[in-house]
Amino acid sequence: MNNKEKVLIAGGGIGGITAALCLLRAGFAVEIFEQASELGEVGAGIQLSANAVQVLEYLGLKEKLAEIAVQPLRYEFKIFDTAEILQQIPLGEAHSNKHGAPYLQFHRADLHAVLVQKALELSPSLIRLGKTVTGFDEDAQGVTLKLSDGTTERGDILIGADGIKSAVRAQIAGDTIPEYTGQVAWRVMVPTSDLPNDFMEHITEIWVGPGKHAVVYFLRRGELLNFVGAVDHAEWSEEGWTVKYPWSDMKKDFEGWHPNIQKILDAADHDMCFRWALNNRPPIKNWSTDRATLLGDAAHATLPYMAQGAAMAVEDGAVLARALKASDNVSECLQIYQNSRIERTTRIVNESSANKKLFHLNSTEELKAAFAKRDISSERSDWLFSYDALNVELASPHSGI
Ligand SMILES: Cc1cc2nc3c(=O)[nH]c(=O)nc-3n(C[C@H](O)[C@H](O)[C@H](O)COP(=O)(O)OP(=O)(O)OC[C@H]3O[C@@H](n4cnc5c(N)ncnc54)[C@H](O)[C@@H]3O)c2cc1C
Repeated sequence: MNNKEKVLIAGGGIGGITAALCLLRAGFAVEIFEQASELGEVGAGIQLSANAVQVLEYLGLKEKLAEIAVQPLRYEFKIFDTAEILQQIPLGEAHSNKHGAPYLQFHRADLHAVLVQKALELSPSLIRLGKTVTGFDEDAQGVTLKLSDGTTERGDILIGADGIKSAVRAQIAGDTIPEYTGQVAWRVMVPTSDLPNDFMEHITEIWVGPGKHAVVYFLRRGELLNFVGAVDHAEWSEEGWTVKYPWSDMKKDFEGWHPNIQKILDAADHDMCFRWALNNRPPIKNWSTDRATLLGDAAHATLPYMAQGAAMAVEDGAVLARALKASDNVSECLQIYQNSRIERTTRIVNESSANKKLFHLNSTEELKAAFAKRDISSERSDWLFSYDALNVELASPHSGI
């Protein structure tokens, strides 16, 4: 495809903005349609491993990321009540040296702001706010984007980066019915100054216990501590970042857990406890038409149990920009992109689902036995963290699964 082609993107989240940056860098004209009337991200944490960070560094963001991130020293898997360490995986310099880029943790709003700032530097009118995409038409010459205000926009290609409830996916792949996993995720954020001095090192803790687990790590240069607690719950609640629940429910869910977990929950703002119902969506096998494709959660929504949802979205943008240069035929380019991504993203979605069981085994003995059997340190480095979206060989347009 030549660089005069215009790419329309539905959704200005981490996936949509990163894709725009990759496409702008590759010389394409890009326009983003975002439903929100203001740009931003929720007050939650996000971890990105080398496979994603190297793409962001390639986009010229290395210094900016260093200003807002925390680089954890290691992962520590711990038993929920005794804090006995089940497994440690080095991060810090070991991760950078092995995989070519650091493992970083961010406040989502900080990361999003850095991406947006760079995107607007390159293309000041890139993002159109208050524009909800409802669907599209396509023909041999291009694609027509339909918006809820009744207007349309014409372009050559459409990228649906509109998240787990994607309107573009609904049109390409039909409605996927979300399956409730039986687990909800609590999230709170605590200023480090509200915790005892030297509360913990700059590490990522994953506390595992019967029917629940908790992930704890620092953000924003260490100024904030992020807590995500996943709990088996028969009770259904909404899927979304902004659904508040009573602090007392969260406290009850972690009754009997280690004193350090209690200290975090006690320090949390009682009116700012959020609960997200975790849904599973089975991976789809085709997410492209001749002129439209999907990216990020719209293409391959995943449970957060490998911390790879946004990382995959970042990788998608890099591979898509390369694939759009690989042929003169738009439809072929989109097949090259999809075929290059589908095996890896399906594997991550499936392995994340498997972790749902592992982290919640019924007893300390079962947890110990299961962790003794795994060597995720070497397993992960082989395929997960060392993936190079900027150089990985692109698939043939005819190699779909
Ligand atoms: C508890 C939890 C913890 C997580 N932790 C991590 C982690 O540590 N690391 C990691 O890599 N991933 C993590 N994830 C996954 C990560 O949050 C997602 O994979 C990531 O946000 C996907 O980015 P996206 O841009 O595809 O979608 P989104 O972030 O959902 O962005 C979609 C954008 O599209 C807009 N939009 C939606 N519909 C429309 C429409 N019709 N028209 C126009 N605009 C629209 C939305 O307003 C939004 O701006 C976690 C997820 C959860 C639930």
